[in-house]
Amino acid sequence: MNTTAEPAAPVREGEAATAEPSFLRWIENNTPGDSRLIMCIQCGTCGGSCPSGPDMDHSPRQVFAMVRAGLKDEALSSNTPWYCVSCYLCTVRCPQEVHITDIMYTLKSKAIEEGMAQVDAAKVWSETFIGYVEEYGRSFELGLATRHNIRHRPMGMTRAASLGVGMLAKGRIDLTPQVIEDVGQLRLILWKAKELEAEQ
Ligand code: SF4
Ligand code: SF4
Repeated sequence: MNTTAEPAAPVREGEAATAEPSFLRWIENNTPGDSRLIMCIQCGTCGGSCPSGPDMDHSPRQVFAMVRAGLKDEALSSNTPWYCVSCYLCTVRCPQEVHITDIMYTLKSKAIEEGMAQVDAAKVWSETFIGYVEEYGRSFELGLATRHNIRHRPMGMTRAASLGVGMLAKGRIDLTPQVIEDVGQLRLILWKAKELEAEQ
């Protein structure tokens, strides 16, 4: 059980200065813009849209329920944020405009800070994802899923292949990696970011 105390969260305008800090408040305050997490109605549209759903311990809906219930350790030890490939499909489909993808990044950041990050298959997944972004400027979902399933879920290849064929047919994923314009410029930005990180 992680017993690290939550840092006090800034109080919003109009709120009582004596308000108790909470995990939900911390997530809200550390997600860029307005996360709208409090607006979640637990409809499950996000999980139903997620291409990484079969690999996740919990659906995004379940993770958000944990956050709202103050179940910090359960939320931070879930592999769910680590399997998020930032496709933003859930975000554009969410009826409440919850910033789901951004919240996944906040959860990852907090999990690392608290030493609760998932470091097995999910770490390889994240590294592969970053490798594609550095190479092509964007993710390559088909390659990502194929590599992951061959290494970690070989028994699930048949189901994954049928899901992949369906997504290809609907144009939801590409058959080959797509390189963005000015990928060289993006690589320079990423290289600079790594340089700044190394200096910290
Ligand atoms: S789609 Fe939006 S409102 Fe529905 S469960 Fe997911 S985050 Fe909540
Ligand atoms: S952005 Fe992440 S959580 Fe949302 S559908 Fe894509 S992979 Fe799933």
